[in-house]
Amino acid sequence: MPPAPAPAKPLTHNQRIVLAALKKADAPLTVYQILALRAVSNKGLRAPLTIYRALERLLALGLVHRIERLNAYVACEHAPHDSAVGFAICTDCRRVVELPLAACEKHLASTARRSGFQIETLQVEMVGRCPRCSAGEEDSQG
Ligand SMILES: [Zn+2]
Ligand SMILES: [Zn+2]
Repeated sequence: MPPAPAPAKPLTHNQRIVLAALKKADAPLTVYQILALRAVSNKGLRAPLTIYRALERLLALGLVHRIERLNAYVACEHAPHDSAVGFAICTDCRRVVELPLAACEKHLASTARRSGFQIETLQVEMVGRCPRCSAGEEDSQG
């Protein structure tokens, strides 16, 4: 078993509130969506910059991921991890599922290296429809 990670600086009040909001959400949230939540604004977080600062630390800790395509954030489902992750984004309901990509990480890295590219971060975003939404389609079409 790997050694337990050194105890990190505890999360601040604001970081805990933002993380809790993302964990509760069933789809990625933008900064403005986070700000609009009662659970957030009631705790005194009212400025976008406050949310950005909290997100910055949560991202650095790997507790949150940014979905570039949606310009939104999700709580990590299995933090912390250092393997690459993919996000399956449903175009219908906007739900996002985090998928570990450890198995294809090496392949992607060596493909990139062959063209002389050094990967610093690897995050794959897949766009399609989640099982729930594609099942709904089958139902409505008989
Ligand atoms: Zn993650
Ligand atoms: Zn869906």
